[in-house]
Amino acid sequence: MPAISLEQISKSYGEGAGLAGAGLVIPRLDLKIPEGQFVAFLGPSGCGKSTILRMIASLEAPDTGRVKIGGEDGVRGSHGENTRVSFVFQDPHLLPWRSAIENVRLPLELERTSGDHTELSRQALERVGLGGALDKMPHQLSGGMKMRVSIARALVTQPHILLMDEPFSALDEVTRFRLQEDLRMFWKASRMTVVFVTHSMSEAAFLAERQIVLSQRPARILVDRVSSLGDERDEHTRASLAYAQEVRELQLRFREGEEGAS
Ligand code: ADP
Ligand code: MG
Repeated sequence: MPAISLEQISKSYGEGAGLAGAGLVIPRLDLKIPEGQFVAFLGPSGCGKSTILRMIASLEAPDTGRVKIGGEDGVRGSHGENTRVSFVFQDPHLLPWRSAIENVRLPLELERTSGDHTELSRQALERVGLGGALDKMPHQLSGGMKMRVSIARALVTQPHILLMDEPFSALDEVTRFRLQEDLRMFWKASRMTVVFVTHSMSEAAFLAERQIVLSQRPARILVDRVSSLGDERDEHTRASLAYAQEVRELQLRFREGEEGAS
C-alpha cells in the first residue's frame, strides 16, 4: 500500500488560476510513494517542490484531486488515524527562548503524547549526536547543531512520514555530508517514508532510493528513476565510481527531460 498517493492534484496561485492559467504551479500530478521509501524531489527553484510537500503535509489543499496518506483522504491510513507526519524546513525554526531539549519536547507537549516527554526528547537528541548539548540555547549552537535539534524534534514523535524541504542547503559541506550519512542511518533504523526536497543532484543521488526530477513551473515529472546504488552508503560511497555514475546518470536524464519538455 502506498504511504503517499497524489491523484491528479493541481494548484494555482493568484492571478491566472486554473489549469490553463499563468498562475498554475502543479498541473494534475499523479504520484505514488510506497511505505518506507526514501524519495528525493529535484527541480529548479520556484517549480513547486515546497508546494507539493505542503500539500502532502495537509498544510495546504490542492485545487483539484486528492492527497491520500496510507490509502485514506487526509492524514490517516494504514497506521489508523495516527499516521504521524513530521516536517523539517530549510531554516531550523527553533524557539530562541527554549533550550535544545525544550525545543525537541514541543511537539510532544502540543500533541499531549503520553510518556516521559523529557526522557523521549533526551533520547532523540542523543540519537542526533547532541547528548551533551541538551540545555544549550539556540544562540549557543552552530548551524549544523541547530539543524540536528530540528531533526530530533521531527523524529521525537516517531513519524511514519518525514518531509524535508532543502534541510541541509544552508550548511557547509562537511556538516552536510555528516548529516546526510546520519539521515540514512535514521531512515534505515526506522524505515519511515522520507520525502526529501533538494536542488542538489549529488545529494539526491547519495540519499535516495528513488529520484524524481520536476520541470520548470508548472511542475511536470521529467524523470522518475530508481537508484542503482546499494543500501550501504557511507563516506566511501562518495569516492566510488558507482556514485559518480549515479550523479552523471541523473544529470543526463535531467537534461534529456528539459530538452524533451521545451
Ligand atoms: P520551490 O519550492 O520549487 O522553489 P514553491 O513551491 O515554493 O517552489 O513555489 C512554486 C511557485 O508558486 C513559485 O512561483 C511561487 O512564487 C508560487 N507560490 C508559492 N506559494 C505561493 C503563495 N502562497 N502565494 C502565491 N504564490 C505562491
Ligand atoms: Mg522550496
